[in-house]
Amino acid sequence: MKTLIAKTPSAYDYPLLIKNLLFCPHAYNPDQEIVYRDTVRITYRDMRERIARLAAALIKLGIKPGDTVAVLDWDSHRYLECYFAIPMIGAVLHMVNIRLSPEQMIYTITQAEDKVILVNPDFLPILEQIKGRIDTVEHFVLLDNAGEKPQTSLAISGTYEGLLSGSQPLEEFPDFDENTRATTFFTTGTTGLPKGVYFSHRQIVLHTLTMMSSLAIPAQKSRLHMEDVYMPITPMYHVHAWGIPFIATMLGIKQVYPGKYLPEMLLKLIVTEKVSYSHCVPTIVNMLLSDPTSKNYDLSSWKVIIGGAALPRAIAIEAMKRGIDIYCGYGMSETCPVLSVQHLSEEEHALPPETQAGILVRTGRPIGLVDLKIVGPNGKEIPNDDKSTGEILVRGPWLTQGYLKDDLNSEKLWEGGWLHTQDVACRDATGSFRITDRTKDVIKVGGEWISSLEIEDALCLHPNVAEAAIIGYPHSNWGEVPFALVVIKAGEKLKAKALMDHIKKYRDMGLLPREVILMKIKFVETIDKTSVGKINKVELRKKHLSG
Ligand code: AMP
Repeated sequence: MKTLIAKTPSAYDYPLLIKNLLFCPHAYNPDQEIVYRDTVRITYRDMRERIARLAAALIKLGIKPGDTVAVLDWDSHRYLECYFAIPMIGAVLHMVNIRLSPEQMIYTITQAEDKVILVNPDFLPILEQIKGRIDTVEHFVLLDNAGEKPQTSLAISGTYEGLLSGSQPLEEFPDFDENTRATTFFTTGTTGLPKGVYFSHRQIVLHTLTMMSSLAIPAQKSRLHMEDVYMPITPMYHVHAWGIPFIATMLGIKQVYPGKYLPEMLLKLIVTEKVSYSHCVPTIVNMLLSDPTSKNYDLSSWKVIIGGAALPRAIAIEAMKRGIDIYCGYGMSETCPVLSVQHLSEEEHALPPETQAGILVRTGRPIGLVDLKIVGPNGKEIPNDDKSTGEILVRGPWLTQGYLKDDLNSEKLWEGGWLHTQDVACRDATGSFRITDRTKDVIKVGGEWISSLEIEDALCLHPNVAEAAIIGYPHSNWGEVPFALVVIKAGEKLKAKALMDHIKKYRDMGLLPREVILMKIKFVETIDKTSVGKINKVELRKKHLSG
């Protein structure tokens, strides 16, 4: 027989709501700073009041529980306020991907049924292009910059700062069911239309708590702790900036929001604001390290967790040379996002940098509460031999329960009660796993799967290679062979034969499959990226395989 806990009638049944993440910093660290570029400084006390004013202003504009409010902004203190104020009144925050095409933007705004859009003046042109085709929207609010009043044909209902100063702070934020939807956003949609995912208060709170504890477990390096200064470099419109703004706020640490990502501004803020903790995709850290001004900045107090794509060892080694504490995590839009983090043990930290890099670029071990298995083509879990591969399937408290208004794809995502990530991985005896491909990107040579990520990693280890991507090239005998698109470092030279000789070394050591010898190589100027800076293989196939 089940025994439920006894409830005293007057006991408070505490719901896991986003508002509850704010108690600690406001009680214990009200004077801590939140900084926007080199222009704005507010305290947590100010932020608390601004959140209450924004909430009141949105209610005045007619926002009711269940309505959706969209934000189009670069990373800012205002975005952080929206992360809290909008869900805290029971509304849904739609983080609009500012890099979507106009058609995709119409689709996402309409699907999400946005009622109010808060827009940075930089994105007015795109809204002007689509106005008249986003019928659900009743108000546009301008995220105004210091008194600027841009010319626009949109009917603006007010400016953000104007609405805040014209509203009395909301006195109390209501309690409601923790399963209420808090946020929504759309996958980056490299194929077809973007798909909407959504997360509840309970999911975000549980993600915050678990991720926070997971980031705190290493004995010394790579920890996010109370003395850190946080700056995101994964956009706030993408998967809650990995949920770390919620963690940083709950910890009450100093936060720095960099606006649009400009290498020099990011590097400057890291040094002047003493930023010690960030997260980004590999291409961004590569961009920062190869920026001509980068050498002028001391980055040796900076920790950075990399995710969103596999981190090539060459970038990890380069970052380590600069004294950066770099490590990896894994997740996806559908999973809030974090599923795993790769922490090194004390012993592993003592290994030579090249060996360490090989370990830290792995995808990691699942964080608490995440139930993750890797299932091979035979439907069984793969052995932990670091070679056999299969698809990663997950369960966890913070996974989207489906795609917005898309039953067919929702069922596919959750087939058999497990969320299908479409990521292919292997796992070693310590339980640390390593993504070798996306199911869509897997290359099958003579019936054998070979990992495009492993070849990319080895290509990038050539000193003259800046970037590399592997796609499958149709072949009459083999079905497919690997096709390497390679960007040479500025000022360097490289011939295909020399690069092939480099690759053969890895094959001879047994680190790459025999079939790698069939690889074709093409030197290119650039490699296409998605809206969040990842290698865009769909575009690469279109561009380099057509005809
Ligand atoms: P998105 O939904 O746009 O955030 O993309 C999620 C996808 O990025 C995952 O399904 C993986 O394919 C990829 N990804 C994320 N983190 C990693 C990682 N650490 N290593 C390799 N691929 C990753």
